[in-house]
Amino acid sequence: MERILTGDRPTGPLHLGHYAGSLRNRVKLQSEYDTFIIVADVQALTTHWETPGLIGVNVREVALDNIACGLNPEKASIFVQSMVPQIAELTIFFGLFTTADILFCRADVVPVGEDQLPHVEVTRFIAGRFNELYGEVFPEPRAMVSDVSRLIGLDGNAKMSKSLGNAIYLNDHPADIGKKIMSAVTDPARIHKTDPGHPEICTIFAYHKAFNAGEVPEIEDCCRKGAIGCVGCKKNLIVKLEVILAPVRERRAEYDKPGLIDDILIMGTEKAVKAGVETMALVREAMHTNYWKER
Ligand code: ATP
Ligand code: MG
Repeated sequence: MERILTGDRPTGPLHLGHYAGSLRNRVKLQSEYDTFIIVADVQALTTHWETPGLIGVNVREVALDNIACGLNPEKASIFVQSMVPQIAELTIFFGLFTTADILFCRADVVPVGEDQLPHVEVTRFIAGRFNELYGEVFPEPRAMVSDVSRLIGLDGNAKMSKSLGNAIYLNDHPADIGKKIMSAVTDPARIHKTDPGHPEICTIFAYHKAFNAGEVPEIEDCCRKGAIGCVGCKKNLIVKLEVILAPVRERRAEYDKPGLIDDILIMGTEKAVKAGVETMALVREAMHTNYWKER
């Protein structure tokens, strides 16, 4: 079975961008691949060094969001980056070239949003360089981008993001989702319901494409003809999002019990450490740094 590594920075709760760009894919892939989900707390510190306390809270939130969307903690190992010492150990050797978190478990595939492609490219370079110098130890991991490689933000920004405050979070209350959608910007040229619209520049249309694909041709046609208004179009989207998010909310509540998420993270991290130990044995063998092997 090929292996996957993917994950999130615990800088805030997850949103629809993660759902469309990565989580939806992860849930599908977990049965076909040996899956590792990294809660990248060390990466989070590259931007959130001023609020280290928040990261601990978000480690649990992000793990819960993954499970809420259908990740099965028995199949997918959800783990905490800083608790896998082999990643740090590898970094020392990769310091010869640079970063390490994808390679510690020798992942084959990395499902990510488009913004992460340069990161995967650097990782492929490092794997290739290592293999060239010491022999084949690492697969050169392939990036796998979903159909929605970048979900637009509520404010029309090119990316819905935790740090830009333009997100619909997976655990938002339905009333808040309603408010966020109703106040989102649509085509500014449409003042009256019958004005012809330009779906290609409309945030709401982008969301229909991501979460209501079946109705897209009809919505596009009606919008261009001025046969549906923005309010109706938004209300329809709210209903469609609720169909997706109601079960996510339910599953989240099921797992949001004292201690449970910590147990899941400990279990996932143990499996990640095991994968890391295997990798380090291969690395030390290849680099001839397994000095005490005989003892
Ligand atoms: P931050 O702003 O703190 O960096 P983020 O919203 O970018 O947070 P990350 O944890 O950095 O979230 O990203 C986790 C994964 O989700 C990555 O694979 C990323 O490409 C993907 N992702 C994040 N936002 C979107 C989006 N709007 N559309 C598609 N994929 C996304
Ligand atoms: Mg990011």
